[in-house]
This record gives sequence, structure tokens and C-alpha cells, in this order.
Amino acid sequence: MEQGDNDAPVVFLHQIHRRYRQGEDTLTILDNAQLALWAGQSVALVAPSGTGKSTLLHIAGLLEQPDEGEVYIGGAATSGLSDAERTRIRRTEIGFVYQSHRLLPEFSALENVMMPQMIRGLPRKETIQRSKEILAYLGLGDRVAHRPAELSGGEQQRVAIARAVANAPRVLFADEPTGNLDPHTADYVFKALMQLVRATQVAMLIATHNMDLAARMDRRVSLADGQVIELD
Ligand code: ADP
Ligand code: MG
Repeated sequence: MEQGDNDAPVVFLHQIHRRYRQGEDTLTILDNAQLALWAGQSVALVAPSGTGKSTLLHIAGLLEQPDEGEVYIGGAATSGLSDAERTRIRRTEIGFVYQSHRLLPEFSALENVMMPQMIRGLPRKETIQRSKEILAYLGLGDRVAHRPAELSGGEQQRVAIARAVANAPRVLFADEPTGNLDPHTADYVFKALMQLVRATQVAMLIATHNMDLAARMDRRVSLADGQVIELD
């Protein structure tokens, strides 16, 4: 799997090891973890706090390097890439949603969604139109001019989702995206994520503690002793 390959998983984590030094001790978080994510498939990562869910998402999303192992994106190995090349892949192929929206407070919803497209170098006019379309698709057509502080928690999180998919990534990682939301709003935000998977065939991995939401996804995995295990 040297070159990009359409039959390959969108993301493949191969024998990933991750350790943190904790004073004198070494904390092994991921110990030969393996996981394949496929286009159009939603996967729930359900495991207790501190087991390494965020670590796994950060490594898969090229935000952090493993100590050993390889991350393949679209069948292509990423460990030998330059920082600039990793950044390019992160911007174009990968979307990330966090528990807190992390929107830029001084910019409107529209500008927040435009930002990753502008950074990528797309023409301004095109990014405005595309951002409006995505926001409308997520039910925010009448909120484009609002700043984050003028939006509800669920609206903020839907803007964050719009921003994450603005560059049409092949994979979307969400780290407890509904963790701060009340059950009704969580359900609405979750539906928006699932709708995107079906409409765009993006691969999606959501770390969540919500078993009801996990049950509605295509597949469930967990972490045990640093390894990814399939549930069900
Ligand atoms: P989860 O998301 O499942 O709660 P994390 O991936 O955030 O788990 O963390 C897994 C473990 O690794 C935790 O015990 C955490 O304290 C530890 N850890 C995470 N990041 C670091 C770091 N940069 N340095 C040291 N320990 C870390
Ligand atoms: Mg976490």
C-alpha cells in the first residue's frame, strides 16, 4: 500500500504504539492498536475515560505521531512525510470536531466555515457560496451572520461540524462531540453527523460515552489494554 488506493480503507492504523513518560514511569496507552475505517461507515469508539480515545483520534488525524506503527490515509503511509505534507493532508482529507466547538469568537458562523477553505487557497466567492450551502444543509441557513456567542450550544456544534467538512474530507473524527449537550440537542447534532456520512460517504469515528448514540452507528469498537477491540 505505497500509493493511494481506492479499495484501501480510508484510514488504517497499523500496529500503533504510544507511550507517555510520567516521571520515572512509562505509561503505555496504545499497545499494537489496529483499526480500519471505511468510506461511508460510522464507527463509535466507546471506552472509559483515560483509556486513550483522544490519543487514538489524534494519531489517526495526524495531529500526533505514534512511537511505533504506521498511519495509512487512503492507502498511503504517512510516517515518512514532511510536516508540510502532513499539514496538507490534515487540511484536505481530515475533519475534526471536538467536545467544545473551538470556533473563533470574533468571526461569524459563515467566516468560521470559510476559514479552512481560504487557508487552502480556494477563491473567496466560492468559499462563501460553499459555506452557505453547508450551513443551510445543517439547518443554520438563518444563522450565518451570528457569532459563536450568539448561538446555542447545539448550533455552535453544528457550525463546528460544517467547518470540519468544509474541505470535503475523506474522514471525520469527532471527540465526544455531544458531551456538552443536553440529550435532545445531542440527538440533533448526532443526526447531522450521520446525515453527512450518508450524503458524502465520509468515514466517521466518534469517541462517545453515549451508548444510545453508539447503538445507532454502523459499528462499535472499544479500547482494552491499549488495543482496539470490536464490540457486538
Ligand atoms: P481518553 O480520551 O480515553 O480519556 P486520553 O487519550 O486523553 O484518554 O489519555 C489516555 C491516557 O494518556 C491518560 O491517562 C492521560 O493522562 C495520558 N496522556 C494523554 N496525553 C498525555 C501527554 N501528553 N502526556 C502524558 N500523558 C498523557
Ligand atoms: Mg478524550
